[in-house]
Amino acid sequence: MDAHALTDVTQGGGAPESAAPQPTYLEQLLAAGLLIETGVKGLYGRSAVFEAVADGLNAAITRLGADQQAEVLRFPPAMGQHDFETSEYLKSFPNLAGTIHSFCGDDRGHRRLLARLEDKEDWTDQQEPTGVVLTPAACYPIYPVVAKRGPLPEAGKVVDVLSYCYRHEPSLEPTRMQLFRQREYVCLGSPERIVAFRQLWMERGQALAESLQLPVEVDVANDPFFGRGGKIVADSQRELKLKFELLIPVNDGLGPTACMSFNYHMDHFGALWHIGLADGGTAHTGCVGFGIERLVLALLKHHGLDPARWPQPVRETLGDV
Ligand code: AMP
Ligand code: ZN
Repeated sequence: MDAHALTDVTQGGGAPESAAPQPTYLEQLLAAGLLIETGVKGLYGRSAVFEAVADGLNAAITRLGADQQAEVLRFPPAMGQHDFETSEYLKSFPNLAGTIHSFCGDDRGHRRLLARLEDKEDWTDQQEPTGVVLTPAACYPIYPVVAKRGPLPEAGKVVDVLSYCYRHEPSLEPTRMQLFRQREYVCLGSPERIVAFRQLWMERGQALAESLQLPVEVDVANDPFFGRGGKIVADSQRELKLKFELLIPVNDGLGPTACMSFNYHMDHFGALWHIGLADGGTAHTGCVGFGIERLVLALLKHHGLDPARWPQPVRETLGDV
């Protein structure tokens, strides 16, 4: 990547003018080949080493959740437009959503498209919506699926999901990607069940971070809801303590980064999708989300860019990466 393209990364301190500028964390990751540039901010390839750590983390999270009797569900990183609309994501985060468009024309349209390309003009207005939207959070595709099955079992249910997610937030911070993976356990059931589930996972998340020898703090948080109305929603999310985050320092000169989140949605998704409890009430839901890339980046930051040299207990937690 052109080094000039990286100069707007926020750096702490500020080096004297004569000294060679310190490479940013992103530059170090690219130079080590752990992330591979594509020319787009927040869109990277991953090396075998990076993926081995990601796999180790996923396996550790599976072991942590072995007692949850979770149903494993995997979806491609996209969902149908209708389900996406029902989720009301556009009310809260219209700026983050990504939609898939495709060329749907005839031969004449094709010639027009090629002419635009030839003339180096914009051709994207020749694309039409496909009815497919990129998944914004790993748990979104499961609610319509569970809803269609009818009322939940008496004890509620836990689902295990893993998906690439898309958010349109191009950035030079390596921790803020446009496409990244979220591993989640999602709980559906009574309010008491969800509150207990979230408490359990806040403890387990901290225990996992401790066994990875990462410095953490847990704090109440709020999502970046869009617009003026969004501020009110965000304040209320904070006041009601609906979202907690586990934060780890990763980026130079910036505050710590949220690497896990512990969410209580109350009956938001239960009501939107008509997910019923066994006794007829509306289901409450909650989820714990592990940001796989952010956790890998936190490990690389704190233990060095070569996992073979990480402390042995950390390597063991990750299945000897
Ligand atoms: P959220 O749904 O916003 O609570 O996100 C769940 C987790 O996904 C966060 O705690 C992060 O670890 C991760 N995450 C969220 N946004 C991004 C991003 N832009 N790039 C990388 N990881 C992210
Ligand atoms: Zn979720």
